[in-house]
Amino acid sequence: MCSWNRIKCGCREVLSGLVDLIYPRGCEVCGKSLVQSEKYLCTACLADFPFADRNFIVGENVLEQFDFSCRPEQLFTLFYYDKYSDYKNLVHLVKYHGYRELGVWLGRMLGEQMKSDFRADCIVPIPLHRKREKQRGFNQALEIARGINEILHVELLENVVERVRNNVSQTGKNAAERLKNVENIFHLTRPEKIRGRHVLLVDDVITTGATIGACLRALSVAEDVRFSLACVARTI
Ligand SMILES: [Zn+2]
Repeated sequence: MCSWNRIKCGCREVLSGLVDLIYPRGCEVCGKSLVQSEKYLCTACLADFPFADRNFIVGENVLEQFDFSCRPEQLFTLFYYDKYSDYKNLVHLVKYHGYRELGVWLGRMLGEQMKSDFRADCIVPIPLHRKREKQRGFNQALEIARGINEILHVELLENVVERVRNNVSQTGKNAAERLKNVENIFHLTRPEKIRGRHVLLVDDVITTGATIGACLRALSVAEDVRFSLACVARTI
């Protein structure tokens, strides 16, 4: 590194140290102050990170719920979403509190977990309805997909499928009502971009799988498409 760059790096470190002093950053899980080298999580919370069990990454049981014609071959999950655990904050911060960069960071972590046995050749984030995206300012699935792709380096396809209906919450609905609620909410706009390819579909959390199933059905209209699925968290 040339001396000018070294000076710039040094200045940046001093500045970020000063910012930490004035506005101390806290761990998003336990609240403890972070040191300069830590980001989002303290070292202890990172060490205890509830990674999804490696044996369940190819999660046959979860995948069986999807239609056979568009069933994903692989499921990659970073961690279990437990409502009694403070690690759930990570998802909430991205979804409801505008922590866009945290979405990318979680995607990078997930990408690291996936890189040894990942088979897809393109990535499609589940779209939000444009009204919802406008309210939130970004699509969290796209930010996660960007993080994954920083590690995996395949083609990230942003406008292949559109959410044409802003479905209401699935909470409190039975299985039949959930399926009805997501019927035809997605429309495949660019079938030629995914025909004959292996698509990694990306979402933030997999709960019932109803929304993901609807998106898979819409994408399968392109024909000759294989699927895998990646979600930051999976409810337990
Ligand atoms: Zn912590």
